[in-house]
Amino acid sequence: MESIMNDDCLFCKIIAGDIPSNKVYEDDDLYAFRDINPAAPTHVLLIPRKHLSGVTAAGEEDRELLGSLLLAANRIATAEGLAEDGFRYVINNGKHGGQTVYHLHLHIIGGRPLTWPPG
Ligand code: AMP
Ligand code: ZN
Repeated sequence: MESIMNDDCLFCKIIAGDIPSNKVYEDDDLYAFRDINPAAPTHVLLIPRKHLSGVTAAGEEDRELLGSLLLAANRIATAEGLAEDGFRYVINNGKHGGQTVYHLHLHIIGGRPLTWPPG
């Protein structure tokens, strides 16, 4: 079981307000903000307030949190005007997955046609 906050974590500092962010959404369990280096016209990062180092760090006790994450992402995508044309959710995990910040985050990316497969 990981602690609620990790003092060395960039995204925990964003949640705490110690590092500024462009907030898009928040509730008791989740926080969303605009990616500082957007890959598309809309690029939002949705994170749990609880520090989990990545999606594979989630356990059975996080079942509801993971469900809330996807449902909130759907609401954000709709609010951002992405629902009609479509968009992409991405969770990078680990070195080969391209994860650079080790606090679980869901990328919500849209606003242009996206290519596949990823590089
Ligand atoms: P990942 O590569 O999946 O770990 O994604 C990390 C994301 O965090 C990247 O898309 C970065 O552009 C983004 N990022 C890093 N620092 C910040 C920050 N201070 N505010 C907003 N987004 C950030
Ligand atoms: Zn964290």
